[in-house]
Amino acid sequence: MNLIYRSTRNNEETATASQAILKGLANKGGLFVPDQIPAMDVPMAELAKMNYQQIAYEVMKLFFTDFTEEELKHCINSAYDKKFDTENIAELVKKGDAYFLELFHGATIAFKDMALSILPYLLTTSAKKNGVKNEIVILTATSGDTGKAALAGFADVPGTKIIVFYPKHGVSPIQEKQMVTQRGDNTFVIGIEGNFDDAQTGVKQMFSDPELAKELDAAGYQFSSANSINIGRLIPQVAYYVYSYATLLGRGEIEDGEKINVVVPTGNFGNILAASYAKQMGIPIDRLICASNDNKVLFDFFTTGCYDKNRQFILTSSPSMDILISSNLERLIYQTADRDAEKNNAFMADLGSKGSYQITDSMKEQMADFYGNYASEAEVAATIKKMYDACGYIMDTHTAVAANVYEKFLADTKDNKKAVIASTASPYKFTRSVMNAIDPAYDKQTDFELVDELERISGVKVPQAIEDIRSAAILHDTVCETEDMCKEVKKILGI
Ligand SMILES: *Cc1c(COP(=O)(O)O)cnc(C)c1O
Repeated sequence: MNLIYRSTRNNEETATASQAILKGLANKGGLFVPDQIPAMDVPMAELAKMNYQQIAYEVMKLFFTDFTEEELKHCINSAYDKKFDTENIAELVKKGDAYFLELFHGATIAFKDMALSILPYLLTTSAKKNGVKNEIVILTATSGDTGKAALAGFADVPGTKIIVFYPKHGVSPIQEKQMVTQRGDNTFVIGIEGNFDDAQTGVKQMFSDPELAKELDAAGYQFSSANSINIGRLIPQVAYYVYSYATLLGRGEIEDGEKINVVVPTGNFGNILAASYAKQMGIPIDRLICASNDNKVLFDFFTTGCYDKNRQFILTSSPSMDILISSNLERLIYQTADRDAEKNNAFMADLGSKGSYQITDSMKEQMADFYGNYASEAEVAATIKKMYDACGYIMDTHTAVAANVYEKFLADTKDNKKAVIASTASPYKFTRSVMNAIDPAYDKQTDFELVDELERISGVKVPQAIEDIRSAAILHDTVCETEDMCKEVKKILGI
């Protein structure tokens, strides 16, 4: 039986997995959500003997039910290969009080590779299955990491073009350099004079414009999304939470069935929603610890039940979490509002008109397993330094937000179950902020001097992704105003 996906904004709009992946976003801004979360059907003791690819298959086959075994295994094995610098694909390392799930061993050294290395295969397979003749235009808004990971995944993939919008003044220098040096005739990168939310809103508007869809179709194009609003990105992320539990069990660190906590540095709420899906599949996860930076809209939400984006947008040293509209939260709102699109629509209408909405007590109760907190800029820096001084391990700024929030969680709750912290980026991606945290005197050095110094003090080899941009030529230099995003897309497509 096929698992049905349904729009959060219209209970009548359904899709198979491959159709949902192809479309990316449902009509009228809705997100596709599976009708139910399937239960894991392999005993944990078996999973504990499997490698990453095998676990990924066991998870994805339950969600992507209209893919054949052969199709899905082809996607998985093509994605999780030598592009990763470790055979394990993700590493789980114990440091201090917690286990760090290093998700940054892929081609662009952030956790986005875990899903974006497979999305192009899922998408082209979906196109074939559904007889799509149009060229697929991947339209993506990025807070820094999705853009590069999507570009790397889709570069030179036949039948696709990829257009990435990033906040010109809101990403790290290394993130920007990684994107603007991207090769591939089908890749386009545009900086916008606005922040991530502006980019995301602009992209969502283009997706929801029926006139534009017609124009595209007439020219032989259709849009899809590489953002975590695409279910084809969200589901592959469920796999690494299952993998981390299986790994802990395999190493004898936990008993079968023992509950663990999971800590996730959160922006668009995709990664932590994937952890929640793993829990709903039956993985023994207790608390879902949602870590924010100074843009602490989610901390306030889990504390008060009121989502309120009316506040100043703050640029921080963890730019991939500088977000005030966490798109994937809508999936949790829909789920807890009795999977009733009308109820969800009322909240989203309030978000659109007033910039805020208040959930009901019953919804809040259903979210009791989430714990929210946040880390200030000073706390992030202090957390990096403390860990480095204690054991020589260097975290990136996003992971440090999570590590700091985990300290607060321990102090607040005294809940000392084993905890997995999602480690979302390599410190090399945010070298300047990381090195300044260790010693402010580093600020005088150039970006690449800092890269070499980071190698020296951490003993971790400079990743290939950084070597690649040392001398790479800049191939993309377009910058536009937020309101001109659609014009730029039309220009690229010649329509
Ligand atoms: C994207 C990103 C996040 C936030 O993940 P979401 O799924 O958007 O919540 C955190 N850290 C890093 C390094 C990222 O690239």
